[in-house]
Amino acid sequence: MKTIGTSDRRFTAAVESLGGLRAGFFDQDRARHRLYRRCHHTGWALRRCAICNVVDRARAACLVCSDGSTTEVFSRGGWFCIRHRRWHSRHVDSLVGDADDLLRAEQALSGLLWSRGVTLHTGEFDLATRLLLDSWREQPSEARRPTWRSYSAVVQLLVTLTHPDVALALAALAESQRRQVEGLIGLVVGAGKGSRTSELEDTAIRVIRVHRAAMYEALRMPKSNKATISRAPFEKAIAEASFRAKAVFLRHVTRSGRRDTFGNRAVRGAPSSRVVSRRIVPGWADNGPWNPVVNSAQSTAPQIGRIVRDQVMQRDAEHLSEGQERA
Ligand SMILES: [Zn+2]
Ligand SMILES: [Zn+2]
Repeated sequence: MKTIGTSDRRFTAAVESLGGLRAGFFDQDRARHRLYRRCHHTGWALRRCAICNVVDRARAACLVCSDGSTTEVFSRGGWFCIRHRRWHSRHVDSLVGDADDLLRAEQALSGLLWSRGVTLHTGEFDLATRLLLDSWREQPSEARRPTWRSYSAVVQLLVTLTHPDVALALAALAESQRRQVEGLIGLVVGAGKGSRTSELEDTAIRVIRVHRAAMYEALRMPKSNKATISRAPFEKAIAEASFRAKAVFLRHVTRSGRRDTFGNRAVRGAPSSRVVSRRIVPGWADNGPWNPVVNSAQSTAPQIGRIVRDQVMQRDAEHLSEGQERA
């Protein structure tokens, strides 16, 4: 089964009739396991798109689930079978004794992380693993432990790093790079109970650099190669910039940290510096639009606005003339 749906209908139909399955069985099964992604069909919203029809890369199924035959599946979930408490990955298939941590990790991977479009093969898992292994360099017994021992720490770290606010905090250009590196190191050490090693520092610096550069690119990405002024939609630019730099956590950023709801509304030019310097003096906000005294005492709001603006303009003019006299 391919990640992007290209299989021949005639072939699948033949298999369905041979296996005594109802027509369209594989299509329906595939639809249930479509990945959450962003694409132009859904206006870049995080959805499961029927046209793109992308499923996860195949992985080994639990041997008890598959009745003992080696089987590959592309379904939601990871390397731990919740039903049979078995670990099944990379030619290993074994029963796990104390499996509470693995159980919680598997639930997070096939629940919250699944709805964020994160699987074992979308890049985030490998980077989180790398960061944790780097934090265990000074504890050789930890670094050499089998994958199933580190699984829950990796998933726990992923839940944090793919949260839109955390992803933004680690890539936002308004934050200092040093603080972002410290923040990432702190999260890794916290999730894996490792320590701050020089390898972890190096990796964290590289990760933050790549993510910041990709964020910079996304914010400035023109709509097309020819466009000079118009920018690509933010979500599209984030997807493209993440792809170019392999910035796996940037994909989860949902807002730039700068945008507001005003759009491209025209803004009046700044008055002269002297006028601005004299504006914010005690009493300047007495006529604020939320001030009930102003609103109830006067007749209608638009008129108040005009009177107030006129008064301010007069006062500016007075200040200006005073200043000019003194000058
Ligand atoms: Zn699509
Ligand atoms: Zn199973």
